[in-house]
Amino acid sequence: MADLPPLREVIARHGLSASKALGQNFLFDEQLLDRIAALPGSLEGRRVLEVGPGPGGLTRALLRAGAQVTAIEMDRRCLPALAELGEAFPGRLDVIQGDALKLDHDEIMGGEPYAILSNLPYNVGTALFTRWMGGEEWPPQWTSLTLMFQQEVAQRIVAKPGASAFGRLAVLAQWRAEAKLAMKVHRSAFTPPPKVMSAIVHVEPAAMPEGVSAKVLERATEAAFGQRRKMLRQSLKGVPGAVEALEGLGIDPQRRAETLEVADFVALARALT
Ligand code: SAM
Repeated sequence: MADLPPLREVIARHGLSASKALGQNFLFDEQLLDRIAALPGSLEGRRVLEVGPGPGGLTRALLRAGAQVTAIEMDRRCLPALAELGEAFPGRLDVIQGDALKLDHDEIMGGEPYAILSNLPYNVGTALFTRWMGGEEWPPQWTSLTLMFQQEVAQRIVAKPGASAFGRLAVLAQWRAEAKLAMKVHRSAFTPPPKVMSAIVHVEPAAMPEGVSAKVLERATEAAFGQRRKMLRQSLKGVPGAVEALEGLGIDPQRRAETLEVADFVALARALT
């Protein structure tokens, strides 16, 4: 196993002061990082995409776990530190400098299956998650998502019907995947500590219900929760045929979106597809 310098030393040597604009909150606790890397099961010989490696804390843990890692990092200042890490694990780490929101991840991973692990930059976390969970093609090329979010966002992803956190993100995450809250992470684990607590969500693709367009489901869900205090009859007005479809399914349009099951949204989307 490669002998690596402490992460704090790497940061000091490369002058990596945390940038707020880039959502930089670094993790230094190697035991915690190893536990995160273990969440998707054994990574030995598996391909992993990491977004935002920063100085490489989680990246080290992934490499220690035997993964073949491709990392996308926007901040050029981190590249020398990541190059050093790559030298310690020859042929196992590829670093791409760029904005993960603008890159085609499947293409980068060469058409092969891959796990995604990331301590996400909070400012782009939801956008990336929405993209990974979206699209008509299912199962996706990624085999699992293991992602750090602000705890409040993590709770919205795993929320069940009736809960105040149940909304668009929950439906998106649960209608054709299993999403669970895998670990809570105290704010003090980060440098600098963010204002709020964090949590890791683990998602694995499940079977996609037949006859449903992802786009239609996303549009209906967005409208339904766009005015979540209103009755569905009102909030779904802008989606042609939606209110009639609800009636056809025996779902009372006087209900509010948060009282519906994920399966109800699937049935509605199927009727509209
Ligand atoms: N993985 C490191 C860790 O756990 O200590 C750093 C995590 S830090 C929360 C988020 C990282 O994502 C930063 O290194 C930041 O520069 C990078 N980043 C921010 N926006 C990005 C984007 N759009 N594409 C790729 N990386 C981004």
